[in-house]
Amino acid sequence: MLSEFELIRQYFTRQAQPGIRLALGVGDDCALLKTDGKRQLAISTDMLVEDRHFFKGAEPQALGHKALAVNLSDLAAMGAEPIGFTLALALPSVDEAWLASFSRGLFALAERHQCPLIGGDTTKGPLNLCITVFGEVEPQLALRRDRAQIGDDIWISGSLGDARLALAGYRHELELSAQTLETAAVRMHTPTPRVELGRALLGHAHAAIDISDGLSGDLAHILESSNVGARVDASTLPLGTALQTQERTLGWRFALTGGDDYELCFTAPKSAQADIRAIGDNLGLALTRIGEIEAGNGLRLLDAQGAALTLDLQSFDHFRS
Ligand code: ADP
Ligand code: MG
Repeated sequence: MLSEFELIRQYFTRQAQPGIRLALGVGDDCALLKTDGKRQLAISTDMLVEDRHFFKGAEPQALGHKALAVNLSDLAAMGAEPIGFTLALALPSVDEAWLASFSRGLFALAERHQCPLIGGDTTKGPLNLCITVFGEVEPQLALRRDRAQIGDDIWISGSLGDARLALAGYRHELELSAQTLETAAVRMHTPTPRVELGRALLGHAHAAIDISDGLSGDLAHILESSNVGARVDASTLPLGTALQTQERTLGWRFALTGGDDYELCFTAPKSAQADIRAIGDNLGLALTRIGEIEAGNGLRLLDAQGAALTLDLQSFDHFRS
C-alpha cells in the first residue's frame, strides 16, 4: 500500500505552471505565495480527527488549544509570523458546554499570538477540526526543509518524547505513576508552538521542520529535501521530564519516533552557535545540539561511545499498518 507521503507525491503534487505566484508548493511545513509586498504569504492546514488524533471525550478546552497549536507550529517551522486562521468544524451535535470550552482554549492561544479567526465552515458530522493558518515571512530567510548544508549543527528546541510516553500510559503499554502520566499528558494535550523561536532563527538557521511525526522521520524530510545525511548522538537527545523517569533506550526510541512533540528541529552553521545560545537564553527555552549534517544520505545514530545504534526508527505514517 502507498505510504502517506507516496500518496501525496503521486496524486497531489503537480509541476507549478509558469506565471503562478507560487514560491514553494507541496512538501514543506507551509506553502509560500508571492505577494506584491516585501514578505511572502505562508499557509498551512492541519486536521484533527476523533479516534485518530484524540480520544473520544477529549477535554474540549485542550482540543481548542491543540487544533490551533499544531497549525501555528507549521508557521514556526518556516519562521513565519501568524496573521490569521480559518476553522472548519464538523460536529456530531450542538453541545454548548463543549463549544464554550473549545472556543476558550482556541481563542486563548489565538490571542497570545495575535492571530485572529477570520472565517471557516461548520457542518454536522463526526467530530473533525480543521484549521488553516496564514502567516508572513521574509522570502530570503524562510526556514525551508531543503536548505540544510553539510557541516551544519542539528538543534532541537525544548524536549522530546513526553507526548509519546503519555500515549503509552493511556494505552497501558507501560504502567506509569500518576505523577509521570500527568506531566507527560500536559505535553500531549497542550503543545507549545515555537513561533517566537522560528522568528528569532531567521538569518541564523538554514533549515527547519516541526516535529509532528517523530524526530527520525521529520529530520529525514530535511535530509531528503536537502540531499544530505546526518549524524545524531542519541545521548544528547533532550528527553522530556516525564520520559527521564524511564529506561534510557526507551527514552531514545520515544524521542526519535514518538511524534506530537511540536518542537522545532533546525540546522545552522557552527558560526551561529553563540547567536543560537543567546536566542535560547532570551526565550527561556532550552536549545540542544544533537548532531551534525554530513555528506551522503540517511541518518546515522550513535551512542555515547560513538558506536552505531540500531533502534527501530519507524516514525508515524497514517497509512502504514
Ligand atoms: P506537516 O506535518 O508539516 O503538516 P504533512 O506531513 O502533513 O506536513 O504533509 C507533508 C506535505 O504534503 C506538506 O507540504 C503538506 O502541505 C502536503 N500535503 C498533505 N496532504 C496533501 C494533500 N491532500 N494535497 C496536497 N498537499 C498535501
Ligand atoms: Mg510540520
